[in-house]
Amino acid sequence: MRKIFKIIGPLVLLIGIILIIVGFIDFFSSITKPTPPTKFYFFFISFPLIFVGFVLNSIGFNKTNKQKTPTKKCPSCGAINKNNEDNCPYCDYSLKE
Ligand SMILES: [Zn+2]
Repeated sequence: MRKIFKIIGPLVLLIGIILIIVGFIDFFSSITKPTPPTKFYFFFISFPLIFVGFVLNSIGFNKTNKQKTPTKKCPSCGAINKNNEDNCPYCDYSLKE
């Protein structure tokens, strides 16, 4: 299921960005012309698309949790060294590699 989000998420985001660019080009090119911009509604479509794209990305890539912190287990006393220090905070065993 997450694989689908990984594909659709960036795709939706990309479509949203393309729609903004197309909307911008259409809007600015229409300034010099007497005709009003016809693709102005692209903006209104692109913003929800970008929002949905961001949500799908965060689900697909699971950015919210699982922040990797280096943990070393002391070979002497078995204590987990969360701060990745050179020496074990419990028995002062050297953890340097
Ligand atoms: Zn230790």
